[in-house]
Amino acid sequence: MTQTKSTLTHLECGNCGKHYDPNHLLNLCTDCGKPLLARYDLGAAALTLTKEALRGRAPSLWRYEEVLPVQHAWAMLRLGEGWTPLHHAKRLGEAIGCAQTYIKDEGLNVTASFKARGLAVAVSRAYELGARALAIPSAGNAACAMSAYAAAAGLPAHVYMPRDVPSLFQVECRELGAQVTLVDGLINDCGAKVREGVAAHGWFDVSTLKEPYRVEGKKTMGYELAEQMNWELPDVVIYPTGGGTGMVGMWKAFDEMEQMGLIGAKRPRMVTVQSSGCAPIVRAFTQGVEHAELWEDAKTVADGLRVPIAIGDFLILRAIRQSGGVALTVTDAEMLQYARTMGSTSGVFPAPEGAATLAAQIHLLAEGWIKPDERVVLFNTGSGLKYAHLWAAMV
Ligand SMILES: *Cc1c(COP(=O)(O)O)cnc(C)c1O
Repeated sequence: MTQTKSTLTHLECGNCGKHYDPNHLLNLCTDCGKPLLARYDLGAAALTLTKEALRGRAPSLWRYEEVLPVQHAWAMLRLGEGWTPLHHAKRLGEAIGCAQTYIKDEGLNVTASFKARGLAVAVSRAYELGARALAIPSAGNAACAMSAYAAAAGLPAHVYMPRDVPSLFQVECRELGAQVTLVDGLINDCGAKVREGVAAHGWFDVSTLKEPYRVEGKKTMGYELAEQMNWELPDVVIYPTGGGTGMVGMWKAFDEMEQMGLIGAKRPRMVTVQSSGCAPIVRAFTQGVEHAELWEDAKTVADGLRVPIAIGDFLILRAIRQSGGVALTVTDAEMLQYARTMGSTSGVFPAPEGAATLAAQIHLLAEGWIKPDERVVLFNTGSGLKYAHLWAAMV
């Protein structure tokens, strides 16, 4: 069986530092209940993961296989995940007075959101380690991505979604072969249902940051950003934050790349944007605390941001603070307004979450926190096409 170039060595608790053998299906730290992070032999990885070698590799996130966990080529599930375009949005930049504005268009991923990155890697690794069925609580896109990769692997998929999730997400999961259960409540209530199924049937839970490898898939956004910007990171990254795997993952990627000698010490200022209807991370950032409290009555049209409590809160807050970044809210009305601004000046039709990054950029430019000559990357995390219900209601 063909081995990959993975240099995975162990898992380490992001809170207490306890080490684990990575070759078992694991969820959280058994001592403190916090997320586990994958660690690699970066000295060995640096020998083959070179700038030159990368030029010849296939355009998918698997090009970074040295720093991904999958050990066997047969377990790498490939549907076209990652290696999305980074556009220099010149007309948009002129319109808002920030010429070096870039859009990383994650809407072109499998199932039309960046959730495909995390789930491509997590499902591949669970498949490799012998999981027999997978389960996920999701407000939408994560469930679609899990359903796709579970179908590719031939694993049963159990999806728990809030009852008010737009029907497209339910339909997509079902057509991809998943068993979909609608729950009265929010994503945390769905999480409780998944835990019951795990206890009763031995499913493997692939909730955000409750297994170690979705972060590994999402961190490839950080690698791509560096590679696509010729190994010079931007000044500012604006990211619509829900569970925070993208923030945590990119921050981890920057450290790994520096240790491998691919980049220097410069880091972007990391900006978290949330909806004013659900902003637990922004509140914790503003209060200067390390953990975020549950946000009551979470409400936003941006389903990916409707995450009232995040288990990786301390890791997200650490990335924002260490980078000299900031966390801010925008309203749902602003997301709808700026979706059209982004769409009509760049050609990228964003999800409301993606439009939130533009709204945040405009606030931060007005405050002088972003200077007009800085290089800013906006993450459009999903395609506007998945939100037809929203745009249709605006006509
Ligand atoms: C899940 C999701 C987010 C939030 O991502 P996290 O990495 O969990 O913070 C943002 N946008 C979209 C479209 C999503 O589906």
